[in-house]
Amino acid sequence: MEEHFSATNNSFYMNEAFTQAFKAVAADEVPVGAIVVSSNGTIIGRGYNQVESKKNQLAHAECIAIQNGTKNIDDWRLDGCILYVTLEPCRMCMGLIELSRISKLIYGANSPLFGFQLDNEQSSWVYKNDVVIRGGVGAEKSQLILKQFFQKKRNKKGEYQEAGLRGNQGCADAKAK
Ligand SMILES: [Zn+2]
Repeated sequence: MEEHFSATNNSFYMNEAFTQAFKAVAADEVPVGAIVVSSNGTIIGRGYNQVESKKNQLAHAECIAIQNGTKNIDDWRLDGCILYVTLEPCRMCMGLIELSRISKLIYGANSPLFGFQLDNEQSSWVYKNDVVIRGGVGAEKSQLILKQFFQKKRNKKGEYQEAGLRGNQGCADAKAK
């Protein structure tokens, strides 16, 4: 599995996650994208933030990618899989990552407001706590598209859309600065 964690592969897979994030941009959603990669390097799941379009607070990119991967391999146990996501996951998604037995998490920009607080080891003691975590992969690009998204919103609306600022993937603005 380790060969799939090289910087080149991380960059390749993170770009796939960005492709998902751009789908969110196109759908006027906060741009967060995620993919699930199996232990043999195959992308088995893809997802992008759809909280607004689905009117569903569960529709975070990671949740959709994980569910998509589960459906594709017909197994909820994603042992050996790697989740790539353009923004640090929220607590809900981190819980799902752990429950899904995902082996490695690679994320882009930090999410100081809604991120899982990955340095807080105690926060996940109740679950399996051996997910290998690495942040900062593609962080600048992730921050840039978030920033552009909210700048565009501001230009269009004149103000922040209050409704769009609730929840992790509706509230990435503070992290994008
Ligand atoms: Zn989340």
